[in-house]
Amino acid sequence: MILLDLNIEELEELLASYDCRRFRALQLYKWLASGCGFSEMSDLPKSLRDKLSCDHIAQPIKISESIKSKDGSVKFLYELCDGNIIEGVFMPHDYGNSLCVSTQVGCRMGCEFCASGIGGLVRNLTAGEILGQVVSVNKFFGGNLSDRKITNIVLMGSGEPLDNYDNTVKFIETVSAPYGINIGQRSVSLSTCGIVDKMRELADLQLGVTLSVSLHATLDEYRRKLMPIANKYSVTDVVSAARYYFKKTGRRVVFEYSMVKGVNMNFADVRRLAEITKGMSAHVNLIMLNKVDGKNIAGCTKQEGERFCMKLRELGVSATVRRSMGSDIAGACGQLRRNRIKV
Ligand code: SAH
Repeated sequence: MILLDLNIEELEELLASYDCRRFRALQLYKWLASGCGFSEMSDLPKSLRDKLSCDHIAQPIKISESIKSKDGSVKFLYELCDGNIIEGVFMPHDYGNSLCVSTQVGCRMGCEFCASGIGGLVRNLTAGEILGQVVSVNKFFGGNLSDRKITNIVLMGSGEPLDNYDNTVKFIETVSAPYGINIGQRSVSLSTCGIVDKMRELADLQLGVTLSVSLHATLDEYRRKLMPIANKYSVTDVVSAARYYFKKTGRRVVFEYSMVKGVNMNFADVRRLAEITKGMSAHVNLIMLNKVDGKNIAGCTKQEGERFCMKLRELGVSATVRRSMGSDIAGACGQLRRNRIKV
């Protein structure tokens, strides 16, 4: 078993089955969340460590490669215990450092512009494998539990978090637990392609996380061309689930919108976006598409993007063009993994 899959109560139960006192669980958890292996856990009896290491895994994530961009972001390639490879990116900002984490190996959503879905879904990540990304990168930068090198998390790596709902929710709970790495839920953003039922379920949990919704189009007809999930849920369904999330949590919802010239950047789109965001706390994050090999979809120029953003603002919509990082290191979803697993 991957020990980082467990929360502290579950770890206590596990240790009880080894005839071990409860207080040991907290000691063990601190080591696990600091990115340490069994051999480093110096305040735990050697006999216990030996027994645990026969049956369990302390660190499920091994950083196999790191590539630094000119802009300071760092792309990571991680190896999982079964040999699968996933990726993530660390981005320094003036307000802190964020880590983009993956929730699945591959993805089955098949969005037109995205590299993660090209090979389909391989498997879900466990909660501990998602947490392990944060733990290992924190350690990589010399951080520990009192001096964290990661202050924000974005669930925007490979995979659809709400397609791996239980493990994602458990990850949000463990990453924000005070006994662990303790990143507040308000510093976690979850991005979804719009799985409506799960958005509502998440809203009912009333966690503090920011919900980002990959909208990308205001009309079903065009959204269906970009995102197969749009055949299941209409724009109206997705927006009403986003409104429900806002109502339940009071958290501002972010709509992600990849700009494609001549397709979703007309004045009618500006008006519809204004309608969609009216009466709720919402922000439109305009995305300059990253070119993906084998995908024939073009975005727009920086100037066209800025102009579209201005028009939204003129109608009172809170909007910004997303600052792109790591374009020289295949920073976007799934790009690096694709390069590496290509034979
Ligand atoms: N599955 C989730 C999270 C992963 S993608 C989701 O769909 O939201 C995170 C964001 O990056 C999404 O808004 C996605 O649409 C966007 N994205 C994917 N590929 C991209 C590319 N090539 N260029 C720019 N943005 C991309």
